Amino acid sequence: MRSPLSACELVRPRSLDLALEALHESAEGRRLTPLAGGTDLYVYLNAGTFEGRRFLDLGRLAELRRIRVAREAIRIGALATFRAIRTHPELRRRFPALVAAAAEIGAWQIQSRATIAGNIANASPAGDSLPVLLAHDAVVHARSVRGERAIEFAKLYRGYRDLDLAPDELITEIVLPEPPKGAIPFFRKVGTRRAQSISKVVFCGLATKAKGGALEHVRLAFGSVARVPLRAARAERALEGRKPGAAAARNALSQDIAPIDDIRSDREYRMTVAGNVLEQFLRALR
Ligand SMILES: Cc1cc2nc3c(=O)[nH]c(=O)nc-3n(C[C@H](O)[C@H](O)[C@H](O)COP(=O)(O)OP(=O)(O)OC[C@H]3O[C@@H](n4cnc5c(N)ncnc54)[C@H](O)[C@@H]3O)c2cc1C
Repeated sequence: MRSPLSACELVRPRSLDLALEALHESAEGRRLTPLAGGTDLYVYLNAGTFEGRRFLDLGRLAELRRIRVAREAIRIGALATFRAIRTHPELRRRFPALVAAAAEIGAWQIQSRATIAGNIANASPAGDSLPVLLAHDAVVHARSVRGERAIEFAKLYRGYRDLDLAPDELITEIVLPEPPKGAIPFFRKVGTRRAQSISKVVFCGLATKAKGGALEHVRLAFGSVARVPLRAARAERALEGRKPGAAAARNALSQDIAPIDDIRSDREYRMTVAGNVLEQFLRALR
């Protein structure tokens, strides 16, 4: 049953410090839930599947919207929307796989509200930006009244929809280190249709090619094929230091991922598609 919005309480802090204080105080008693674009939370409220009634509206925290560019990294504020990411000239130039993912998240209306931190904290294994962050060795910065800490994206998810984030911590920014020179990025989302669909398999690949054609810095990151987004470590090892060869990588991949049957797809289909998108990436590298 729908949760009436009139029963919800909204706290709207003007600064990050005030937001962190409010969150910290509420963690002890009546828990505040951070609210960014609301594109996941409103769906849960509408479906009556979310119990929280107190929200911390992050909308006034302009400092969390910024995208800061430096030579060695781009720092994306937690509240940057996928529209801001998709249209950012430096992200388009240096992180095209993230831009490609942003362009496939919902449609313009959703992209204009949905934030990158919301995608991360919602922690769906089908979140489209997550394999990109994994392949790019992203670092998530979180803050609480106790201070700031940096969490490697690869270590953020402890299990299904379970993040290494305390109830009084907010994600503040995501740091994307500059990939090695010559790195070739690749993004592919497979859903039931070309637009506006939830991923059956989502993939981001990244690799460089040495002079003789051997692959280096191989990153193969998948979503929707396990309980958490993951790197296909065995398939990466099968490719590292060698010329792109599909058979060994595909074989190794079958040991890396454990897709499930669900309403969107079955295990076998996901295994096949995961292998196919990996092959597409290898063809793009040749
Ligand atoms: C029609 C529709 C289509 C969609 N299509 C896609 C799609 O194609 N691909 C895809 O990946 N997703 C899709 N989504 C899901 C959603 O849009 C994304 O997950 C989005 O990035 C969530 O961001 P948000 O700002 O709206 O988060 P919110 O709904 O505001 O919050 C989501 C979660 O993140 C937490 N949170 C938000 N910000 C912070 C923060 N700074 N620190 C800590 N916790 C925080 C909230 O407490 C909540 O638990 C779709 C949703 C809809 C309604």
